[in-house]
Amino acid sequence: MNWNWKEHNKEKSLFRSYYCSGCKQSKTCGLLTNWNSDWQGYCCACYFQSQQEESQEYSNYQLVYQQKVSKKKAKDRQLLLLKNYSGCSQCGSKEVEAYSLYENSQLVCQPCLMKKEGGASGSVSFLERSKWYKRYWKIALTEWLETYQKLPVNAECADNWLKNREHLKKCDCLEIEVKELVEMFSNSLKEYHQKLEKCSCKKSEKVRVDNDYSANCESCKKTIPIASKKRIIKNRNDPRFWGLAIKEKVLCGNCLESKKENMPPLRKAEFMRYRKAKRL
Ligand SMILES: [Zn+2]
Ligand SMILES: [Zn+2]
Ligand SMILES: [Zn+2]
Ligand SMILES: [Zn+2]
Ligand SMILES: [Zn+2]
Repeated sequence: MNWNWKEHNKEKSLFRSYYCSGCKQSKTCGLLTNWNSDWQGYCCACYFQSQQEESQEYSNYQLVYQQKVSKKKAKDRQLLLLKNYSGCSQCGSKEVEAYSLYENSQLVCQPCLMKKEGGASGSVSFLERSKWYKRYWKIALTEWLETYQKLPVNAECADNWLKNREHLKKCDCLEIEVKELVEMFSNSLKEYHQKLEKCSCKKSEKVRVDNDYSANCESCKKTIPIASKKRIIKNRNDPRFWGLAIKEKVLCGNCLESKKENMPPLRKAEFMRYRKAKRL
């Protein structure tokens, strides 16, 4: 007999079930998600929806612009703080903890914090920042902060300014940056949308899980036995089975019970029978 292992394995992987971790109902075709390892276990529709939600945040130019402006102001303020920092009164170090600076605009001595709390946290100092700006934006941080109390918008803006000192008066770099960002999000969404038309993810009415033996209640996380080895949950754990139109797809008996008032009367009666017989 001429047993072809290669063909056999190919066939096996062809029928291996990969169900979307998001909707648990679609076998993913990978058209939108195969390049993105974070999303590999998700179907195209779920991925598209997440991208749609994300790009929603970037669809309003005014809103994004305002956020950018306040972020930039905060960053400028933090650098000024850092520049005027005379060092820790305890140890003299000028290294501050990065998180406290960027999240709360606070100067917390990093070496002292390390000694007190241990662990690892990032540090930042004016010297280090100056070097960074010199290297990547080719500008002198001290000069900028002293003369203008703020920084260029980005590397390109710094470049424009270096070529033409008048640039600052008519700088619209932030507007351009935001415009590009908004466009980028809307373009990639359009692209995904076109691709989505060619998607061949397969839908199943059964709720799939990624384990051979059990699933977890989506509400209380309790372990639930599933239809053995078929990787689908039992109907009784599917809220739809009880006439419930809710976003959860797998629920345990207790969690279903808390929603029983929303079941149609006949379904509710049946549900109570299941509960009484301890089948759920
Ligand atoms: Zn999905
Ligand atoms: Zn210190
Ligand atoms: Zn500019
Ligand atoms: Zn697909
Ligand atoms: Zn539960």
